[in-house]
Amino acid sequence: MTASSNEFPIPDRMRAWVLGGPEELVFTEKPVPQPGPAEVLVRIDAVAICATDLEIISHGVPAKIGGGLPFNKNFTPGHEYMGTVVKLGPTVDEYGIGERVTVEVHAGCGRCERCRQGMYTSCLNYGEPQKGHRANGFTTDGGFAQYAVNHVNTLVHVPDDMTDEEATLVVTAGTSMYGLDVLGGLIAGEGVVVSGPGPIGLLGVAVAKALGADPVILTGTRDARLELGKRLGADHVVNIRREDPVAAVRRLTAGRGVHFVVECSGAPEAMNQSAQMVNRGGRICLAAFPHAPAEVDIAQIVRNNIYVYGIRGEGQSATHRAMALMKQKRFDAKLIHTHTFPLDQLPTALKYARERIEDAIKVVVKMPR
Ligand SMILES: [Zn+2]
Ligand SMILES: [Zn+2]
Repeated sequence: MTASSNEFPIPDRMRAWVLGGPEELVFTEKPVPQPGPAEVLVRIDAVAICATDLEIISHGVPAKIGGGLPFNKNFTPGHEYMGTVVKLGPTVDEYGIGERVTVEVHAGCGRCERCRQGMYTSCLNYGEPQKGHRANGFTTDGGFAQYAVNHVNTLVHVPDDMTDEEATLVVTAGTSMYGLDVLGGLIAGEGVVVSGPGPIGLLGVAVAKALGADPVILTGTRDARLELGKRLGADHVVNIRREDPVAAVRRLTAGRGVHFVVECSGAPEAMNQSAQMVNRGGRICLAAFPHAPAEVDIAQIVRNNIYVYGIRGEGQSATHRAMALMKQKRFDAKLIHTHTFPLDQLPTALKYARERIEDAIKVVVKMPR
C-alpha cells in the first residue's frame, strides 16, 4: 500500500524541464511519478547545479556510462536536489511523510558485486533500469522538476535548522568525503593537498580539516576562490600563477611533502605534480580529469611506492558522514552557495554556473511555494 497525506496534496501532472537535443531544454508537463516498493515520492524544494549537469545537457553522461545518450528521451536532468517526502511506496517505514530529505545520486542496482561492496557509484549494471539501477539526473529522471521518485537508500535526513540551499550541498561534500575515504580515511595529523578550488575541492578542504588533517594546503589560480578555501579551513593557499605548486608544498612541509593529494583540477600536469607533492608511500585521489589523455611519469610513481585512486561520485554512504559534519557545523558549506533562481529560470541559472557570472560557484534553483 502506498501512503500519502492531505497535508501534501499531489497533482496528477507536474512542471518539469526535459532535455530535447544537446543544449535544448524545454519547460513542459509530465505525469507525477509513482513510488514503488522501497521508494518514496519527493516534492523537490531546491536543486543545485553541478558541472556534470552542464556536461550531460551538452554531451551526455560522462564516459557515456549507461550506454547511449540522454537526448530526446523525455529525460529530466538535475541530481543535487533536496525536498520533502510526500508519499511512501509499499513497505516504506524508514522515512515519514513531511520529512525533509536530501538525496544521493546513485541508488545502484543492489545486486551486483560492486553494489554489494558499497561501491554503488561504480555499479556493474549502470544505466540498466530493468536490472534495478537508478542514478537520478544521470540515467533516470532527476530534479529539475516538481517531483522525483527516490529509493530509500538514496535519502539523507535534513535537520530542521538547515536551509534547503545548504542541504543541496550534501552530495558535493559527500563526494569530497568519499575521496578521503578511498585514500584511507584516517587523516588526523596528516598533510593533505587539495588541487583545484571548484565545489568538490573547496568542500574537500572543509572535510579534510574537519577530520583533523594538518596541514591542509589548497592550490589554484583564482585568489577569490583561494580566500574562500581559507575560510573553509585551508591552513595555506598557493596561487600556482605566482608560485610553482610542487616547490610551495615542499616549502610548507619542510621538504617532506604530504601524505595525501586530492586532485580536483583536471589540469593535464596535475598527476605528475601530485606525484611530486606526496611523500614516499603517499596516496593520490583523482577526482577530476583532463579532457585529453595526459602524459604521466610512471617511474616517479613506481620508484616512490605511490598509490593512485580514481573516484566516481559519492559511494560508501559518504553523504551520511558529510551530513553528520555539516549538522555539527564543523564547516560552513553555505559559503560556496552564491546564487538562487526560481525553477522557471533554469536556463539563466545554468548560464550563471557555466560562465561563472558574478563569480558564481554553486547556483541553486528553488521551487516557488
Ligand atoms: Zn554533481
Ligand atoms: Zn550494481
